[in-house]
Amino acid sequence: MIYADNAATTAMSAAAKEAMLPYFDQIYGNPSSPNSIGNRAAEAVAGARKTVAACLHAEPDEIYFTSGGSEADNQAIRSAALAGAKRGKRHIISSKFEHHAVLHTLQRLEQEGFEVQLLDVYEDGVVRVEDVRSALRADTALVTIMAANNEIGTIQPFTEIGAVCRAVGTPFHTDAVQAGGHVPLNVKAQNVDLLSLSAHKFHGPKGVGVLYARRGAVPLTNVIEGGGQERGKRPGTENVPGIVGLAAALREACEKMDKHNEKTSALRDRLIEGLSQIPLARLNGDRTKRLPGNVNFSFPGIEGESLLLLLDHEGVAASSGSACTSGSLDPSHVLLAIGLPHEIAHGSLRLSLSAYNTEAEIDHILEAVPRLVARLREMSPVWKKMKEVD
Ligand SMILES: *Cc1c(COP(=O)(O)O)cnc(C)c1O
Repeated sequence: MIYADNAATTAMSAAAKEAMLPYFDQIYGNPSSPNSIGNRAAEAVAGARKTVAACLHAEPDEIYFTSGGSEADNQAIRSAALAGAKRGKRHIISSKFEHHAVLHTLQRLEQEGFEVQLLDVYEDGVVRVEDVRSALRADTALVTIMAANNEIGTIQPFTEIGAVCRAVGTPFHTDAVQAGGHVPLNVKAQNVDLLSLSAHKFHGPKGVGVLYARRGAVPLTNVIEGGGQERGKRPGTENVPGIVGLAAALREACEKMDKHNEKTSALRDRLIEGLSQIPLARLNGDRTKRLPGNVNFSFPGIEGESLLLLLDHEGVAASSGSACTSGSLDPSHVLLAIGLPHEIAHGSLRLSLSAYNTEAEIDHILEAVPRLVARLREMSPVWKKMKEVD
């Protein structure tokens, strides 16, 4: 199988898997237990916290382990909203193409009386720093803008947005789930107060993530109540193997980032070049401000879902948008946000690569996609009409 769905999830790296194994059935103690097997588990969690902090240029006590990116997003946003509300601030700035973990949390806050302002992302899929600056108000409790988009791969000017927020003392959260391990992250230099990561997007295990919270920036509110784990902010017995695997995967991703990105972006560029030859093909998202592995095209006249089925049948695993919207008939909110008409948004294909992909796999995709798009168009009444208009 050719796996080109790395924005949805990645294969675990050998290093992450090896690092995790002892913590299932050898060092399986509870980190909170006063015995030596528990102490060893606690040491592993502490070591992982240091590793993650080093990768992000943060302090270990600014790292909280969560059940994934969604939980980190929820907790970051709820915390800043609550802290703001205590001081009469109920305005939140975000963008139209955030992940649903952010958008749905904001919807809930709206029901609770917050005012949510979603900025446009323009045709290139990039939020404008100037728009953030002019949206900021005295009663803005939080700005939350993703570091990189999961569907079209566009990298946002989050460092500049962070600087604008820092200058007026407004907390800034960034969902860096797609950026983590692929884009250099330095929370200090990048003016970030709150940041979310998820291990399974950088070759770590599923079900474990990170919330970075800058010391003194925003007091964290619990999403889960319980014991004293994670300084009381994220109770529940630690997912020790997951946390160890996350740290091993992040360390590897950071150490090999340049090498991996060089390879992945060369594969991406070949794919973009090749698929652009398909008549009326449209690349979604800015060509250069783009994650090294992201390719997202619309092919007018076809249904993305049909193309996916045919590709899957030929051994290529891809996606039509985000996994969360697949299965529903609504076109992706991201593609609509960059101004695509419904019928064109429906005919989109996301191929997301990793350093594990090969040249030969790209050759195969470049042979299959144009052939399958042509076949689908031959059967498509929509395409026939389009050609008549031409
Ligand atoms: C995958 C993803 C999430 C959710 O992370 P989980 O660990 O799957 O909960 C959030 N935001 C973005 C941008 C993502 O790509």
